[in-house]
Amino acid sequence: MPGQIPENLRKKVAERLAFYEDLGIHFFYRDRHPEAILQQGEPVESVEHPVRPTQIAHQEPALPKIPLRPGLPKAASIGPSKVPPLPLPAAPGPSLFEAADKIAGDTLLRVREDLGECTRCKLYKHRHTIVFGDGNPKAELVFVGEGPGADEDAQGLPFVGRAGKLLTQMIEAMGLERKDVYICNVVKCRPPENRTPEDDEVSTCSPFLLRQLEVIAPKVIVCLGAVAAKTLLRTNRGISQFRGQWLDYRGSKLMATYHPAYLLRNPNAKGEVWKDLQKVMVVLGLQARKGKPA
Ligand code: SF4
Repeated sequence: MPGQIPENLRKKVAERLAFYEDLGIHFFYRDRHPEAILQQGEPVESVEHPVRPTQIAHQEPALPKIPLRPGLPKAASIGPSKVPPLPLPAAPGPSLFEAADKIAGDTLLRVREDLGECTRCKLYKHRHTIVFGDGNPKAELVFVGEGPGADEDAQGLPFVGRAGKLLTQMIEAMGLERKDVYICNVVKCRPPENRTPEDDEVSTCSPFLLRQLEVIAPKVIVCLGAVAAKTLLRTNRGISQFRGQWLDYRGSKLMATYHPAYLLRNPNAKGEVWKDLQKVMVVLGLQARKGKPA
């Protein structure tokens, strides 16, 4: 009979509501077309619902606010356009930002001295040279990669191998030179066989990266690849979910894009990276020198 809910369906709905209440969701909207539920035999949700309980239950928690670097305006106020923040889930673990906050009057030289001939993590066993970072200590633009490769390990400089040459091309296409920007990595020693740095290596080494960024205080940080992005954003999400979007990092604007080494394997992705870098150019007021990099 129209208007009556069968007992089995009533029971199902009651169980579902109890489940949502256990999740802390106590408010629901009544469907204006209960006939639809009765016809299908299962609870369905009206398209007229402004918010559905199922949506609430699956919402990602927002990225915890990364503290603003003292003395800097909010990233969203830098540049010509207002950039909406992207909600990202937080990765568990202690805050890496507290250490950086405590060091007043820090300099890149002091960070390098504190790093010393570091043996804090197991990567020291295989390295020839610590690759600290290179470029303009007052750069408006910082590129952060993952870790040194074989060429970098041999020369003690970041991004000097094949991937580095591609990065240099991209920087020049943006109307800059390498000496205008600062380039560094999350880990300062080469992982064996160029493997991805492990969590303990990242957590041990990255406070030095954070201090570098605190000292330089760039307008824009470009994360090259997932490791850099995940480290700075404290997220476990895949980079494809937020690549190309503006995010906040302690008063700097942060753009995550693909690593040049990935582009060497997947040249078709170069166009996407170039689009990301063009957004960076707009914020920094740069004119393309050579157009899209080869
Ligand atoms: S990767 Fe970083 S923490 Fe590990 S040994 Fe090298 S400098 Fe030290």
